Amino acid sequence: MKAMMLEKIADVSKEEPLKQLDISIPEPSYGQILLHISACGVCRTDLDEIEGRTPPKFPVILGHQVIGTIVRANNVKNFKEGDRVGVGWIFHSCGECSYCLKGEENLCDFFQATGRDVNGGYAEYMVAYSDFVYKIPDNFPDIEAAPLLCAGAIGWRSLRLTGIKNSYNVGLYGFGASGHIVIQIIKYLYPESSVFVFTRSKDEQSLAHKLGAKWAGNITDEPPELMDVSIDTTPAYLPVIQALKNLKKGGKLVINAIRKEPYDKDVLKNIEYEKHLWMEKEIKSVANVTRRDIAEFLQIAKKIQIKPQVHTYPLQKANQALKDLKNGNIPGAKVLINNE
Ligand SMILES: [Zn+2]
Ligand SMILES: [Zn+2]
Repeated sequence: MKAMMLEKIADVSKEEPLKQLDISIPEPSYGQILLHISACGVCRTDLDEIEGRTPPKFPVILGHQVIGTIVRANNVKNFKEGDRVGVGWIFHSCGECSYCLKGEENLCDFFQATGRDVNGGYAEYMVAYSDFVYKIPDNFPDIEAAPLLCAGAIGWRSLRLTGIKNSYNVGLYGFGASGHIVIQIIKYLYPESSVFVFTRSKDEQSLAHKLGAKWAGNITDEPPELMDVSIDTTPAYLPVIQALKNLKKGGKLVINAIRKEPYDKDVLKNIEYEKHLWMEKEIKSVANVTRRDIAEFLQIAKKIQIKPQVHTYPLQKANQALKDLKNGNIPGAKVLINNE
């Protein structure tokens, strides 16, 4: 099968990190399925892996927003051959530790990430545990379903962790794959809330207006109102400082980023306790995702009929998709498609 393989840490802006290889199709072990992949989303976390901020086990096939059809099942009860399913970031967890037992499997010490700790979806086939895959609602074509699995599911987890209530002012810092789905959830589930979008990209600002944002501006622009809660999905530190400053008293900032890039870390020296933290402001990070987040989100997406904006690339053009994601000049979610 064709696979886009990552063999070592690389700089996406200077080189093509993935090599196209022909390797053998993997064998599903007990409780696993073999998927013929039709679409796989490209995520900012893939850049974090390639650039070494969350290093994978090399060599690895990236990709954790996978849609495919089951072609073989090894001792599996909940799915059968021919079913269309999705695989997200959570590939497996131990199922026995205190975190797993209370549904916080995202915090499990043995958490395995798809496309980092095991091979993922930048290929024609992959294996997955049948207990860790999801039926995809029929109303979503493959390419629109792929970004729901990470950007959407983790966006939903981030939104849950903010403790949002109807009528809240919500700030979104960064407006990529996750943000443009989160705004649609807010508009549907919390219709009296107002959304304020902070992004340097003019295209993303106009997409924000189109999706119902009350205000959209640059990261450093002064918003017309303060926020009850905010979500930061950017790779930088400046938005963290800005988001804290723009919170109301008792407000909460949720950071949905697996790693921050180091280039503007110095701005943290400007943090002032009175301005950014005093009056019970809170910060919380989002780690991984649980099966519940993914399953719940797929149902919400179906109800709302979320329309992810996607830009597709053939599998062999994965390097280009990564470069476009890094440069941030094409709005919406990037999805690799298998044309065979
Ligand atoms: Zn992701
Ligand atoms: Zn566990």
